[in-house]
Amino acid sequence: MAADFKLTPDQIIEIRRILEAEERTGYDDSASPDGLSDWVLQRKHAVSELAQLAQYSRLRPHTRAHLARGFIEKLTGNVLPTPIESAGVENVPVDVLPGVGATASKRLAVLGITTVGELLRHRPRRYIDRSSVVSIADASIDGEVTVVGDVINITVRPARSGRVRVVEAVVEDQTGRMSAVWFNQSYLTRTLKGRRNVAFAGRLEIGPRGRHITSPEYELDLGRMIHAGRLVPVYPLTKGISQRQIRRWIAMAVEDYAELEPDTLSDDLRGRHGLPDVVTAIRNLHFPPSLDAAEVAGRRFAFSELLVYQLAIMRHRHAWRDRDPGRSVQISGRVLAAFGERLPFELTNDQRTALAEILTDLQRDRPMSRLLQGDVGSGKTAVAAGALYAVVGDGWQGAMLAPTEILAEQHVATLRELLNPLGVRVELVTGGTSSGDKRSIWKDVERGAVNVVVGTHAIIQRSARFARLNLAIVDEQHRFGVQQRNEIRSKGYNPHLLAMTATPIPRTLALTVYGDLDVSVLHELPGERKPVKTSFIPVDRRDDAYSFIKRELAAGRQAFIVFPLIDESDALNARAAKDEFSRLSRDVFVGQGESVGLLHGRMSAAEKETSMREFRDGKTKVLVSTAVVEVGIDVPNATVVLIEGAERFGLAQLHQLRGRVGRAHHRSYCLLMSQTTDTSENARLRTLQTVSDGFMLAERDLELRGPGDVIGTRQSGELGFRFAKVTDIETIQKARIDAETLVRTDPDLLLSEHTTLARDVDGLLDRNEWYVFASSKNCLVFWINLEPDRFIELID
Ligand code: ADP
Ligand code: MG
Repeated sequence: MAADFKLTPDQIIEIRRILEAEERTGYDDSASPDGLSDWVLQRKHAVSELAQLAQYSRLRPHTRAHLARGFIEKLTGNVLPTPIESAGVENVPVDVLPGVGATASKRLAVLGITTVGELLRHRPRRYIDRSSVVSIADASIDGEVTVVGDVINITVRPARSGRVRVVEAVVEDQTGRMSAVWFNQSYLTRTLKGRRNVAFAGRLEIGPRGRHITSPEYELDLGRMIHAGRLVPVYPLTKGISQRQIRRWIAMAVEDYAELEPDTLSDDLRGRHGLPDVVTAIRNLHFPPSLDAAEVAGRRFAFSELLVYQLAIMRHRHAWRDRDPGRSVQISGRVLAAFGERLPFELTNDQRTALAEILTDLQRDRPMSRLLQGDVGSGKTAVAAGALYAVVGDGWQGAMLAPTEILAEQHVATLRELLNPLGVRVELVTGGTSSGDKRSIWKDVERGAVNVVVGTHAIIQRSARFARLNLAIVDEQHRFGVQQRNEIRSKGYNPHLLAMTATPIPRTLALTVYGDLDVSVLHELPGERKPVKTSFIPVDRRDDAYSFIKRELAAGRQAFIVFPLIDESDALNARAAKDEFSRLSRDVFVGQGESVGLLHGRMSAAEKETSMREFRDGKTKVLVSTAVVEVGIDVPNATVVLIEGAERFGLAQLHQLRGRVGRAHHRSYCLLMSQTTDTSENARLRTLQTVSDGFMLAERDLELRGPGDVIGTRQSGELGFRFAKVTDIETIQKARIDAETLVRTDPDLLLSEHTTLARDVDGLLDRNEWYVFASSKNCLVFWINLEPDRFIELID
């Protein structure tokens, strides 16, 4: 064995000694002076076999145990694992399958499939029922059928139109004949010529030349039908891969590898929820005996994804919050009284309550992890200011992160207004800050002369060093990744965290979605704000809407025009912002300074900033945009928002869009334009005319359209789920309860029946970035795991 390992006998003795010592100390990585990873790194270039131990120090003890035992076994030659067993199916590259070469591998990678394990979890989009195998004479016209017959003739001819080549086979069984027709697949003549007992499946039609099926699926091996004669899976595809190919590869993978899949769910868990074992589930997912069986298989995978996810969240939070205590803030009543006196207004009751909740958290010595939810204009910034003041009053520093430079500028202006008179120094650091200014600000931050720093990413740059950071506030649509947190932590801080969002999420939903994130809510709007007058405009009166906007522009005001999509799409019949931008600026808003700006998600961050800035500064009067920026930008001079294709938005989202106006004393208007004539749909939209409470609207969305619209259906895949839906509250709840029980009974998942579960949880924690993120567009605030570039997509 030693020869295979290329380790010298001395090295074998040494690594054995280390791993055995690890076993004695519970795998606490104490056996080599700087940790095993370090030991390996010093030798790994010479001895490639050690590479698999390189991550050792980063892993949790039970994973280390697994790795160490496996390594010793190999060293001593007790076990000769096959490559597959040692790697697990999830690590077997997909190109082990016959027929999957380099090109196919690349194409599969586009679908997120690089391993056999991923292929086995490639979820069919739907199933076609081809289970009824009938005789040609009995086959019903216009239905999906499978017939079995002999190919008695097959020809290729050019179609009348010229370029296309038509392949036509005559198929016969004991009861009659039909033809099968394909286009441009001349090779089929070779495959099918003279073949007997071939199954053909598809939609049977009747025409002048008799019964025929156009482009039928065929199956030569009736003993193992995968394309016909059963429920047939239909997969999401990518360019260059056909249903037939992927179905064949998956069938091979199921046959050869499904048995090797370790089961994430213990017998106990499966039994409790009536879920099948993993092997059965894989089979039934792809080649189910019934639609029910397929559904149950899908449910099983959804459940295990959610369970792993919940466990990962809990571990993550546990590691962050409980194992690394935060610093408690001493809060003096006098300090707060000073803050209250200085405020130009009285705090609303909700603001007061939220602030009290936050201050209670801050006094604890474990870091706060709280979400502050409040409708647009509900006064979250004032609450944040109170929290910052309390922290600064005890000698700490605070940081506030905003998603864009403009929002950061807005915040700094507000915070300065409220806090400067109290002697608090607030500084702004963004990408736009000159490097000289940055240097001097950071110098002051480092020596504690700056109390609060507001900014974009630049805040958590490597160069940033706080003297005494103890509160980090994250505003809308901002990510705060493990990496960033670790950076802050590496500077010696584990600050309290407050995330703020304007997305109203009903309480029922919040509990499941946020898990154990604490939530404070601002329901009331402060002051005497006039509600935005909301009108419903039929599409044929679009010109009236434009005239109305022009009148507002003539009075010196500004307007938003919002479109649901970026590009024209026939399927969705939506007007595209880009096209409309050209049209509006060319034909509609021409003349006296009625300049039009454009804002959409495919613009670069810098372009977006410029566009928003021009609108804020009044350089452009009309801003044509997609729903990218729903909240945040405060342009008091904007008084109209026209929303095209309003039927595509949820009520809560429309409410957010509407919140862009009505920020000053000017009377403001929201014009909803809907393409649909569906009366119930229009009734839904009319709700906005009377209701101006974001939470109530979110509840209505929940009732009318299900949780999808409230928390954003599109997310499932983006959260890294293949099966689970973020909208499947029932399953999320079940998984949560089980996860809690597991954390209580087997916190480190050391029991043997939890080995695979532990491995999956570790995998999720190790593989992905974790973000706390507050986003209105995605209506989701929680700890989510995303790969960084996926996250960027989501934000854009
Ligand atoms: P948001 O929750 O959308 O971030 P802001 O914090 O920007 O809201 O507050 C919106 C506006 O309301 C600001 O102009 C702010 O000064 C004002 N405001 C906040 N709290 C109160 C209050 N209690 N009474 C009156 N005005 C308030
Ligand atoms: Mg705000």
